[in-house]
Amino acid sequence: MKKIKYENEVKLYEDINKYIKDKDFDILLISTPKVMKEVFDDRLIKTNKNILISSRILRNNDDDNVYLELITNDIYSITVDGPSGSGKSTVCKIISKILNIEYLDTGSMYRSLAYFCLVEDVNLDCEEEIMNVLNSLDITFESSQIKVNGDFLNDKIRTNDVSMAASKVSTYYSIRERLVDIQRQIALDNAIIIDGRDAGTNILKNADFKFYLDASPEIRSKRRYDEKKDNSSFEKILEDIKRRDEQDKNRKYAPLRKAEDAVLINSDNMNIDEVVEKIIEIIRGRNVL
Ligand code: C5P
Repeated sequence: MKKIKYENEVKLYEDINKYIKDKDFDILLISTPKVMKEVFDDRLIKTNKNILISSRILRNNDDDNVYLELITNDIYSITVDGPSGSGKSTVCKIISKILNIEYLDTGSMYRSLAYFCLVEDVNLDCEEEIMNVLNSLDITFESSQIKVNGDFLNDKIRTNDVSMAASKVSTYYSIRERLVDIQRQIALDNAIIIDGRDAGTNILKNADFKFYLDASPEIRSKRRYDEKKDNSSFEKILEDIKRRDEQDKNRKYAPLRKAEDAVLINSDNMNIDEVVEKIIEIIRGRNVL
């Protein structure tokens, strides 16, 4: 790690540019002292490298120094599993930005399928009918998001009804097999962080890093309630979360469980930044970055 004494912005830009000039790297992590606010702009970067500026993950600088760290970003994979509302997707989105890698939200694939099943009013107890819907969908991956038949589905797949239906359609072996194939293909092509229920136990058994995020049903329900995707009451969300946990943990194929080699993080008393920091520390500690 390189330490630079902060005097003023102009001098800092000069120092940083001098430091990175002949170096080979993919990402530059910059930890700034609190006296600086959002300071960096294109005056800093005279190379075509990817630059990441973070006061978030190297935060131990209450002094007036700036710390720099250069990172090489080889293809690698990270899995994050856990129950609904454990914070997986928020954490994964931030980490994918920090590490400049792709993010695959596997739940959004089950949700998309569930959404089209609801639209077409298919019987969710009938695997064949669900498979017919899946066959009619063109599922692609673009900018860390799933596209179905050319569209991003966004909030349409985030309602409570879709959540429940997704949990149901994901119980079928043939459906999982098909979606897991697509997920593995996406993972092969990219340095990636994947979240889901079976990412570490099934989709990428050989992932470089595995995490399992957990939190109590009450805390998870409160988080979902605060997101306000529809008009469900807290009690209804809690009841549904418990039902989904039950369904996800006890289903026959690829049930939700922690992979033996996954690091368990209980976020009951942690905010998102703290979870992100913990994951980044573990990854950095193992020297992949
Ligand atoms: O993570 P999310 O809540 O969006 O997932 C919706 C549902 O999809 C989950 O309740 C779970 O039943 C299912 N799912 C799964 N395997 C995954 C991801 C999600 O079975 N890898």
